Amino acid sequence: MKISKLKVLLYFISLRLSRRFSSTKVVFWRKNSWNRILKKTPFYHSYVDKQGAFPKMNKSIFMENFDQLNSLGIQKERAFSLALKSEETRDFSSNIGSISVGLSSGTSGNKGIFLTGKREKEIWVAAILDRVIGFSFRKRKVAFFLRANNNLYESVNSKLLTFRFFDILDPIPEHFEKLLDFSPQILVAQPSVLVSIAQLFEAKKRKPFFKKIISVAEVLEQDQKEYLEGVFGKRVDQVYQCTEGFLAHTCSKGSLHFNEDWLKIEKAYLDKNQSRFHPIITDYLRTSQILANYELNDIIHEGPKCNCGLKSTVIEKIEGRSDDVFSFAVKENEVRIFPDFIRRAVLISSDDISNFKVVLVEPKKVVVELELKDQDGKLKTQNLVKNSLTKLFLKYNVEEIIIEFREFKHSPLDKFTRVKNEYQKTL
Ligand SMILES: [Zn+2]
Repeated sequence: MKISKLKVLLYFISLRLSRRFSSTKVVFWRKNSWNRILKKTPFYHSYVDKQGAFPKMNKSIFMENFDQLNSLGIQKERAFSLALKSEETRDFSSNIGSISVGLSSGTSGNKGIFLTGKREKEIWVAAILDRVIGFSFRKRKVAFFLRANNNLYESVNSKLLTFRFFDILDPIPEHFEKLLDFSPQILVAQPSVLVSIAQLFEAKKRKPFFKKIISVAEVLEQDQKEYLEGVFGKRVDQVYQCTEGFLAHTCSKGSLHFNEDWLKIEKAYLDKNQSRFHPIITDYLRTSQILANYELNDIIHEGPKCNCGLKSTVIEKIEGRSDDVFSFAVKENEVRIFPDFIRRAVLISSDDISNFKVVLVEPKKVVVELELKDQDGKLKTQNLVKNSLTKLFLKYNVEEIIIEFREFKHSPLDKFTRVKNEYQKTL
């Protein structure tokens, strides 16, 4: 299915104009077209014109009501079998008619299926061009490192923009010479791949030439961001996108903003001092499936207002997913430790750690993987990490936790996260 370049251009202009509006104005403006879709969606029939009174939604309720929640009459079973087949064959071009089916990788074992129609793809491409790649009359080349070729990018190859796909299934060093030959102005990849590329530039003593670096797909850790910016000599921008949609982008001043000109963002606070929240989204541009009052399980910290001119909410950081919060039973009470505290406990314990993973594998067992700058001090560093984590757990009255170490392993196919709760996943 080919998307229309003319439509992309029209959506691009429309999004360029809407970005500066406040969310309430835009929601009002998009309401009529959205109401038409609500009418076509069995689940929301009775909610037309009752804005804001939608029932609470999340991925599991969404999946339970899949057949009633899409405006296209697509059955969950059919969509699921197609999505699973694409995962197995790694051919992600599966379609039902002009609709693509995508599977979300839920860490909770709770997978979601999301449908995208032609119009939604055109809007997405326009939004990426407007908010991520940026417009320029200069000819530019974009290298994107992904796990599967997204032919949407290539469909907008034009006189001004040339895209090239690098498959992250192949070892990154094998791509290095080709990347130098292509010499793109824009580099798009997940943080772990960006780090490998930066290390290659350092090891081979080559001068980086990128004008723009964009981190996608995984949480960009602050220490990784600093390292990348040091090597590349450029700011690293972020795209916050999940199967539920393209949620936030980095502005001209470097802040990550929610795309509130088509998303209504509400906050479900997770802690007493309201520093963390789950975003509750209502997406006014999605038409294949309705996403209304939908709670994501990403843990977001809100940042201070930005002076770039955009009125939208600033994300200070994405801490991780609530599925990965460590949960322990202490005297019949549940004690929850947020990923940031685990991260900090590891990072402050030694300067020798370049990357790590802390995984809760059993109710009282944690496995740690360390990537070290210097292998000589391995045992010493492991002890420091163990002490630091034990101290953190004791602060929460969590006692007798077994902490074991294993080799640091990371496959580019897995979504990398430093703090993971695998125990809950297997429940
Ligand atoms: Zn800004």
